Amino acid sequence: MSAAERVVVGHLYPGYLNIYADRGNIAVLAARARWRGFELAVVTIEPGDPTPGDVDLFYVGGGQDREQSLIAPDLAKRGPAIKEALAGGAAALAVCGGYQLLGQFYRDQRGDEQPGAGILPLYTEAGDRRMIGDVLLECELDPGDVRTVAGFENHAGRTILDEGAEPLGRVLAGFGNDGESGYEGCRLGRALGTYLHGPLLPRNPWLADWLLAQALGHRTGELPVFGPLEDELEAEAHGVSSVRARSRGGRY
Ligand code: GLN
Repeated sequence: MSAAERVVVGHLYPGYLNIYADRGNIAVLAARARWRGFELAVVTIEPGDPTPGDVDLFYVGGGQDREQSLIAPDLAKRGPAIKEALAGGAAALAVCGGYQLLGQFYRDQRGDEQPGAGILPLYTEAGDRRMIGDVLLECELDPGDVRTVAGFENHAGRTILDEGAEPLGRVLAGFGNDGESGYEGCRLGRALGTYLHGPLLPRNPWLADWLLAQALGHRTGELPVFGPLEDELEAEAHGVSSVRARSRGGRY
C-alpha cells in the first residue's frame, strides 16, 4: 500500500488514559478508514517514548486524576513537538483528562497543579461536584455545516477557555466545559478537545470522518471528500444518546 493511503495515528498514553472505552475511538477510525480503502497505522506513545515525526492525527483519552498526574510531566515536555506537528497541519482528538492536559494546567481534586502541554488555550480546575451524564452539542466545524454531537461526560474539572478561544460546540443538553458557559470543548484548527466519552466516535460518525479527512489531508496535501457509508446503527446510537441527554443531561 503506498504512503498516500496510510494515515499515522499517534495514540498518547493508552496504558494510562483510557477510561470509558476511549480506545474505541481508534477502532472506529480504523474501520472507517478501511471501508474507504486506506489504512490507519497506530503508533502508541507512552512516557519516555519519542514523538514520531510523521503523525497525521494525535489521539489521547481520559483518565482519573492519579493517572493524569503520572503522565502530565511527560506530556508537558512533549508539548513543543506536538505543537509543531499541529502547526504543520496534523490533527488531534483529546478526550476529557487528555483534553484538560493539552491546556495550560489542571488543578486536580487534591489541589495539585498538573502541568499541561500548553497547546490548547484553556486551563482547568477541579470543583467539588462531578459533572456526570449524557450530553448533546451543536457544532459547526465547517462553515454552514451545523451538526449535533452526542456523548457522555464525567468530570470534576471546570475548563475555562481563554478570551477569544473557539469552543467545540454549544451545549444543547448537559454540563459541558464548566456547567455555566454553555459551551463544550475547544477547537484549534484541526485539533479538537472535548469532555465527551462514550466512546465518542461510534455515535458521531460524521466527526470520525471529519478527523480522518483532516488526517488524510495532512498526509496527501489534499482534503478528501468522503462519500456516505451505511451508518444506520450509528444514527440509532446517536438518537438514543440525544434523547437521554435532552431528558436528563446537565442535572446533578
Ligand atoms: N480526572 C479528570 C476530572 O475528573 C478527568 C476525568 C475523565 O477523564 N473522565 O475532571
